[in-house]
Amino acid sequence: MKLRGQTAIVTGASRGIGRAIALELASHGANVVVNYRSNREQAEAVVRQILDEGGLAYAQAADVSKREEVRAMVAEVQANWPGSLAIVVNNAGIAADRTFRKMDPDQWRNVIDVNLNGAYNVIAEALPLLTARTGGCIVNVSSVIAQTGGFGQANYAASKAALLGLTKSLALELARDKITVNAVCPGFIDTDMVRGMPPEVLEKVVSKVPMKRLGQPEEVARLVRFLVTEGGYITGQQFNINGGLYV
Ligand code: NAD
Repeated sequence: MKLRGQTAIVTGASRGIGRAIALELASHGANVVVNYRSNREQAEAVVRQILDEGGLAYAQAADVSKREEVRAMVAEVQANWPGSLAIVVNNAGIAADRTFRKMDPDQWRNVIDVNLNGAYNVIAEALPLLTARTGGCIVNVSSVIAQTGGFGQANYAASKAALLGLTKSLALELARDKITVNAVCPGFIDTDMVRGMPPEVLEKVVSKVPMKRLGQPEEVARLVRFLVTEGGYITGQQFNINGGLYV
């Protein structure tokens, strides 16, 4: 229960990796803000699970790409659990794959807006609260695609690679405030995002993973939790969790 009394915002926490992170942080005592964009029912189910297990959580709608919605979410955190915001996990993310030549400007912009500008919005709004207390932790969910690139994924790869630059720069700037900033780079994890691939493509992807399986969201969640509970001297780093893909 190392995180008792500390509040965590987990973006995109209604399903997949974000859901697993919310449950994992709550199981270590954190008060969790289960952020979601549109699926209230799923977010409420995550909250119910946390409450049933004796934790504290509520669901909060906010599209991370909209600064005013993020501002309202952070204000709500301060109203509900004043002075306790210590953990921000920028997990919300989308993909809109298409080869670069066919990609329309909206596909480019939407992915950058959510994956990169979304993280920027959340950090920018949360920072005054994080720095007002001693110590904090920001974890950005990047991707193996940031490191390898991906066919038809110029928008996604650019957004996720930019998160790594953001992570390293912020780590330098926030070290004096005892705020650590790290990134995790999952490989192929068993969530809706990956399950959306055509089965033959998914099979090919898995065959290239040395461990010959998809990762589980809970495995990523435990890595994020480790950074939060044990990572006091770890900052500015990126952690690969990809079943042995060499990057
Ligand atoms: P997912 O599609 O299951 O979940 C993404 C979550 O983000 C959803 O809850 C969605 O509602 C939320 N979201 C999307 N846009 C949002 C917005 N504008 N505001 C708030 N929430 C928003 O995908 P996932 O696999 O769980 O992905 C989670 C994160 O992990 C993403 O950033 C993704 O890019 C990254 N990632 C996933 C994999 C993988 O293999 N699944 C690999 C590497 C990185």
